[in-house]
Amino acid sequence: MQHIEYLIIGGGPTGLGAATRLQEKDLDWTLLEAESHFGGLAHSFVDDQGFTWDCGGHVQFSHYDTFDRYMDMALGPDGWNTHQRESWVWIKKRFVPYPFQNNLHRLDAEDRWACVEGLLEAWQRSVSVGGDGAIENFEDWMLATFGPGITELFMYPYNFKVWAYPPPMMDHHWIGERVSVPGLGGVLKSICTGQDEISWGPNKVFRFPKQGGTGAVWESIGKSLPNGKIRLNCAVTEIDAKKRRVTTGTGEAFTYKHLISTIPLNHLVRLAPGVVNPVGADALRYSATNVVGVGLDGPTPDHLRTKCWMYFPDANSPYYRVTVFTNYSPQNAAKPGRQWSLMTETSESPMKPVRQDSLAEETLLALEEDGLIPDRTKICSVVHKRLDQGYPTPFLGRDAVVDPMLRAFEAEGIYSRGRFGAWKYEVANQDHSFAQGYECVERLAAEGGEEYEPTLFTPDVVNARRNA
Ligand SMILES: Cc1cc2nc3c(=O)[nH]c(=O)nc-3n(C[C@H](O)[C@H](O)[C@H](O)COP(=O)(O)OP(=O)(O)OC[C@H]3O[C@@H](n4cnc5c(N)ncnc54)[C@H](O)[C@@H]3O)c2cc1C
Repeated sequence: MQHIEYLIIGGGPTGLGAATRLQEKDLDWTLLEAESHFGGLAHSFVDDQGFTWDCGGHVQFSHYDTFDRYMDMALGPDGWNTHQRESWVWIKKRFVPYPFQNNLHRLDAEDRWACVEGLLEAWQRSVSVGGDGAIENFEDWMLATFGPGITELFMYPYNFKVWAYPPPMMDHHWIGERVSVPGLGGVLKSICTGQDEISWGPNKVFRFPKQGGTGAVWESIGKSLPNGKIRLNCAVTEIDAKKRRVTTGTGEAFTYKHLISTIPLNHLVRLAPGVVNPVGADALRYSATNVVGVGLDGPTPDHLRTKCWMYFPDANSPYYRVTVFTNYSPQNAAKPGRQWSLMTETSESPMKPVRQDSLAEETLLALEEDGLIPDRTKICSVVHKRLDQGYPTPFLGRDAVVDPMLRAFEAEGIYSRGRFGAWKYEVANQDHSFAQGYECVERLAAEGGEEYEPTLFTPDVVNARRNA
């Protein structure tokens, strides 16, 4: 049995953030990854027809100078395409630029008035009541912020499609930078001037690897680390927290001083019995993500040539988002320049089941109906990949469930970090995940010093960094 000072479980962005920092500090570490590749949810794959796919629409935007430096190093300065975000909402058979609430002038008169009337109502209520004292859940927040018009037309149906849970079951404190909150003046200006307002948001400029999809980044970072410290195809099957010992499916065993776990917290609870009550793990809500990719022969249709991604609140389609994936990089097609691709995402939960056998066909039908596939005979590839855990739901009472679990594991020397490790959607993108791993090492290596893991413990502060 080998003793390792810092043992990492998982070779996704969080595990690689931790490994990178440990290597720089010349500390003793080993990383165990169940799959044959790096990247976790941020990995990419090539289908039988030669199209490259991500596991859902991944774009790179960052809240950290440090993360940017590693990204530059991973692919080199010439390894990236930089894009201006061009995203749209497809609603009632018309395109409205994103953010929807800032571009109401694109709606027909009746819907425009319903939205403005609701906003006025919300504004009057906020003036008379003040603060957000009455807001208990995500639906309350939508109504208080946008009023009933925008909520019923867009926010509620769209968010149910994304999260696969009804908004009354969700918290609203995660929202922060994730949703554009319009000022009344801005909304009225857009309606009166008829001008699009599209510049909002942290991801208005983003970048994407020229070759190999998002996963190319993590393959590169993984392969830059010493081979001897990394075990791929090595799933952890048991953790004895008291003895600080990990057993793997390959029959190896390791003891450790610190364990940085980046696997989903609900799995960790079961792999390391006796630390927290396993019933607690059942309270951790999440949704699955179904990615259906469609590769097509021919040029990208004119109306999609500059679009990055589109949101779909209407009930005719299973998907909530469609990405024109070859617009990120033509190399995502098998024959760059002569083929193009669409990547759709459909969420799933016990409250919103998805039929696996018919999803691909339902997706194709809706893509035709929504005008995204002009000619079905041009389809040359269809793939369906289901991610069992895609989105960590910000459910009501989340922190009261998650935080005691994280503390209980820490008391045993186990640090659960990352998208599903820490279960905090507001800090669950690639940059946040990498930072969680990196900052955890900073804290542990400081041996009780000043370091405190800003990403995990102060998400609002971190997310405010680059929101001009
Ligand atoms: C649909 C979707 C869209 C997204 N869009 C974006 C985006 O636009 N921009 C962005 O920055 N981020 C995006 N993300 C988030 C990004 O994918 C995550 O931030 C990132 O992958 C999380 O990294 P992680 O290391 O915390 O977890 P993971 O990626 O889940 O990695 C965990 C790793 O642990 C391994 N593992 C699990 N169990 C075991 C075990 N028993 N033993 C050993 N290894 C194990 C897994 O194989 C995996 O490699 C998106 C995610 C999804 C699902």
